[in-house]
Amino acid sequence: MSVYIDPAVATSLRGFEMPEKLGFGSVMAPVMFRAVCQDGCWSSGELVPYAPLSLDPAAKVLHYAQSCFEGMKAYRTPERGISLFRPERNAARLAHSAERLCMPPVPEALFMEGVRTVTAYCANLVPATSGESLYLRPFLIGTQADLTVSASTSYEFYVIASPSEAYHAGNMRVWVEREDSRAAVGGTGDAKVGGNYAASLLSIARLKKRGYDQSLWLNPGNRQTVDELSGMNFFTVMGGELHTPALNGSILEGVTRDSVIDLARDLGFTVHERAIDIDELLRQVADGTCEEAFACGTAAIISSISVFGDGGESYAVAKAPGLVAERLRQALLDIQEGRGEDRFGWMHPIEPISVD
Ligand SMILES: *Cc1c(COP(=O)(O)O)cnc(C)c1O
Repeated sequence: MSVYIDPAVATSLRGFEMPEKLGFGSVMAPVMFRAVCQDGCWSSGELVPYAPLSLDPAAKVLHYAQSCFEGMKAYRTPERGISLFRPERNAARLAHSAERLCMPPVPEALFMEGVRTVTAYCANLVPATSGESLYLRPFLIGTQADLTVSASTSYEFYVIASPSEAYHAGNMRVWVEREDSRAAVGGTGDAKVGGNYAASLLSIARLKKRGYDQSLWLNPGNRQTVDELSGMNFFTVMGGELHTPALNGSILEGVTRDSVIDLARDLGFTVHERAIDIDELLRQVADGTCEEAFACGTAAIISSISVFGDGGESYAVAKAPGLVAERLRQALLDIQEGRGEDRFGWMHPIEPISVD
């Protein structure tokens, strides 16, 4: 597969100035990768200047939400240059999300070509400060202009990028969401789709007014066990052992979750994947049995949870930031930022391409 490089890309890249303050996901790299799929046939990809999309107002994505995405990062490592973290996992997950929404999966080779090309041309935009990175956002949308309720016959796949700081700093206050659900039984909870996020926004707006940062979502089937946060998976530490909700169809299988489990076991921790009852958990937070709680995801890495709010009550976690969370965060960042040995083969090096 060969990627067409639009000659205007060089001008876009040369004209780009990195702002002093990055934030998360608000500064956009000046180029993007694009491929189209018509009746099941994928075009080859192209790298073009970053620009608004042109969509027909009747495009299926705008009405029936045929839209899924990924979030992943390119890191700058002192010895090994630029690397992506486990990109094949994101390729596989985007394919899974696409299939759930009746969309054609982006072939793994095309996905890899997309993230590799954007990262290679944006190598100068990968920040060097620890915790900062080039955040990549691959996404797939249904573009056919037709209001009948059926799967689109045409799709567009993009990879955009954003030089970013880490998403969350400090401890998080989470709110136990007893009313709304972000996903449904048999729904799209285990797919990374925009609709899940749309369903979470009202809850987040409500809890912000009460001084909280994130919703803690319960399982939509039993409304009693913990699933996850809106964009992060959930862990607790009890008796020095890790506990995380077992995958159940409504939890998104995080690449960070998977990596934390592997890393923790490698460091000698016992990890339990099980159903976590919310009322039992709140009792254990209150009596100190639950020593730590944290959330993890690509954007936030690992962030400690300091308080659980539920109805009129709040429950403070004994240790926030917790030592186990801090140790895992450091061990993960050491691998991602090239200070620690890549003993799981997670890092995928990218050869920079210069336009000068
Ligand atoms: C993306 C996401 C996560 C985190 O997944 P990572 O692969 O670790 O970034 C967790 N939960 C939800 C709902 C998500 O959308």
